[in-house]
Amino acid sequence: MMRAHNFAAGPAALPTAVLEQAQAEMLDYRGSGMSIMEMSHRSAEFIEVAETAESDLRDLLAIPDDYAVLFLQGGATQQFSGVPINLAERGATIDFVHTGAWSKKAIAEAKKGWNVHLAASSEASNFDRVPDRETWQLSENPAFVHVCSNETIGGVQFQTTPDVGDRLLVADMSSDILSRPIDVSDYGLIYAGAQKNIGPAGLTIVIVRRDLIGRAPADTPSMLDYAVHEKASSMSNTPPTYTWYLAGLVFKWLKQQGGLAAIAKANEAKAQSLYGAVEASNFYSAPVRKQDRSRMNVPFTLADAELDKAFLKGAEERGLMNLKGHRSVGGMRASIYNAVSQASVDALVAYLAEFEAKHG
Ligand SMILES: *Cc1c(COP(=O)(O)O)cnc(C)c1O
Repeated sequence: MMRAHNFAAGPAALPTAVLEQAQAEMLDYRGSGMSIMEMSHRSAEFIEVAETAESDLRDLLAIPDDYAVLFLQGGATQQFSGVPINLAERGATIDFVHTGAWSKKAIAEAKKGWNVHLAASSEASNFDRVPDRETWQLSENPAFVHVCSNETIGGVQFQTTPDVGDRLLVADMSSDILSRPIDVSDYGLIYAGAQKNIGPAGLTIVIVRRDLIGRAPADTPSMLDYAVHEKASSMSNTPPTYTWYLAGLVFKWLKQQGGLAAIAKANEAKAQSLYGAVEASNFYSAPVRKQDRSRMNVPFTLADAELDKAFLKGAEERGLMNLKGHRSVGGMRASIYNAVSQASVDALVAYLAEFEAKHG
């Protein structure tokens, strides 16, 4: 068996140990005679899987009891409208910090029914940074302030929780949730699609302060209403059972790695290796301002874009997969989520040197 060095942005690499456990339990889940994906979401077996996953996630992120954890579908994209519907009256002002492609999509959805105020934007410098906090112009009393903690495409990441005073802070953490410890109580709501750093596609996690639930207008479709999901423990309709199960295995794996402090250290080391190699060369360059660089998604370009094809071909021959940059940015992007090992990053760093020696 050959496992690739997988630098995919999402759906992305999963820990091999997790896949092996899923494989071992696939046909006969703990003596039930069936796969977990073949049984009722109301079965005792699945309820245990679901509850254990939630409690492990609560442990990992130290989620306070006054926050609900919802296991939803529809992707982070659905939350671009789900969050405003639940947290802001129609037409109310929502502040956005615009840091790239995913912020832009969130803004576009909010514009459909709310008054979007751009508190800050790095569009003028092609989203190469998080706008400096002292330049932000927050509204006096917005329904909430929205940030994307890690721009998956541009590779820009908030290094610390932004200070928004007593305003409500909402974060799209799709691509850096569980990559480092955070203080959940700094946020009113956190949401994340699963397929980057949690598990397979099909699940969206929403962590929301309970007092914010129940504000959606009466004509809200039930699948968009957090109150409906909270009341039914995210089983108002059939949840994505197998993805939920796999996410639970990833949470256990994270605990075995030593939790988020340990994972953050490993992520820091991987990012240092890769950015260090890019910095040290005159052939590669990273477009993002140094202090705002993502530890999860590392975009970089070659001195000559004509060489991109040859670079990618050589990479694939060495088992270094999915390095092509997003079409909107070009160049390369290495996504180095929790499940991507230091060994994979080392293999990429070695290839960077090899390719530069030949073509630089
Ligand atoms: C991938 C991604 C999304 C979209 O997630 P879907 O699950 O495809 O809807 C939103 N925000 C960020 C930051 C992402 O990385």
